[in-house]
Amino acid sequence: MVSTQSLKTTRSEEIFAAAQTLMPGGVNSPVRAFKSVGGQPIVFDRVKGAYIWDVDGNQYIDYVGTWGPAICGHAHPEVIQALAAALEKGTSFGAPCELENVLADMVINAVPSIEMVRFVNSGTEACMAVLRLMRAFTGRDKVVKFEGCYHGHADMFLVKAGSGVATLGLPDSPGVPKSATSQTLTAPFNDLEAVKALFAENPQEIAGVILEPTVGNAGFIPPDPGFLEGLREITQEDGALLVFDEVMTGFRLAYGGAQEKFKVTPDLTTLGKIIGGGLPVGAYGGRRDIMETVAPAGPMYQAGTLSGNPLAMTAGIKTLELLQRPGTYDQLEKMTQKLIGGLLEAARENGHTVCGGNISGMFGMFFAAGPVHNYEDAKKSDLNKFSRYHRGMLEQGVYLAPSQFEAGFTSLAHTEADIEKTLAAARTVLADL
Ligand SMILES: *Cc1c(COP(=O)(O)O)cnc(C)c1O
Repeated sequence: MVSTQSLKTTRSEEIFAAAQTLMPGGVNSPVRAFKSVGGQPIVFDRVKGAYIWDVDGNQYIDYVGTWGPAICGHAHPEVIQALAAALEKGTSFGAPCELENVLADMVINAVPSIEMVRFVNSGTEACMAVLRLMRAFTGRDKVVKFEGCYHGHADMFLVKAGSGVATLGLPDSPGVPKSATSQTLTAPFNDLEAVKALFAENPQEIAGVILEPTVGNAGFIPPDPGFLEGLREITQEDGALLVFDEVMTGFRLAYGGAQEKFKVTPDLTTLGKIIGGGLPVGAYGGRRDIMETVAPAGPMYQAGTLSGNPLAMTAGIKTLELLQRPGTYDQLEKMTQKLIGGLLEAARENGHTVCGGNISGMFGMFFAAGPVHNYEDAKKSDLNKFSRYHRGMLEQGVYLAPSQFEAGFTSLAHTEADIEKTLAAARTVLADL
């Protein structure tokens, strides 16, 4: 047990105490409150590269990266410079702007399934809209999602959801009417038989299947070989759509996302996080014939006052440009492998039962024997031990996601020295856990 309260966080505590009187739980997104790991959240002052600084002046190596967007490192000078120039021209037009074409073109060229795209303001919005589109295009209402997968906080998806919902162990949220989720069917991740059974019970009634092609919101869970291919086949045979929610995996597992990595092309894709480069952007896109169902090309309504705004487009464009440079994904893979390999080794050397892995700059470690194929398996992790590990790492200057059920992220700014320092911290913490 790490008992040394070496970290001075007086200012964080003051600010968070005030925040709790002002905002529910003191935060604007639940997982930030550190509820599942206990202790106080730290309040940030600034971020740069691989590091964050809290309001008490403590520095941490960051493996959250604002939940994914900071793949080039926080506050990348080229992104900041591009934003400064864009800011001079105004923050929002609410009218067409050429930057939308530029980012749309980049997304279409990058992501195999996307022939046409619509920008929105968050991943939640993208997933809400894509569900409406699945239903509008097929004329069917039912949808299949997987236990532990998170597709934002819209009503229809709050059934066995991951991320903050899993973290807090909440059941389906109050306020969601039964009617909103009555058409949402669920299956365990990596279980093709369960999906086949759903299609057999509901022939030609399912609009489509939506999933995180590599799960990050129940901890890091990659697809078993053949799983994505199997879903492609099942949906195609039934006339249903396959939708990859790549809000997290897009531009992270590979430049073209999980669909490039695993060579399985869905009909529709949602994006977010990285494409906004730290500003609020989401997107959904896919086959042209399906996308032309969206207004004003077609009858399916979806709109947004700030959608495609010039600042967000600028941050996205610059971030994708940086990612196109040679060797970026090799570097992410190499650094992240070194990190997760070292963490697993340090844990095992100290007698802990762990499993984990990475793909590119996305990683995870469970305090469980594994293998972890789905959310049920993930829940076998020793959450108490994770909490102590999390606290210990924080005390050692390493900021990990404050939940066992969230993936970790590296960036192009993380150096060998950062990884070494992280592993040294982990050896100290794990020896004493
Ligand atoms: C983060 C996330 C979302 C929700 O995106 P927000 O921008 O937080 O609304 C949806 N799907 C997946 C897979 C995510 O990781």
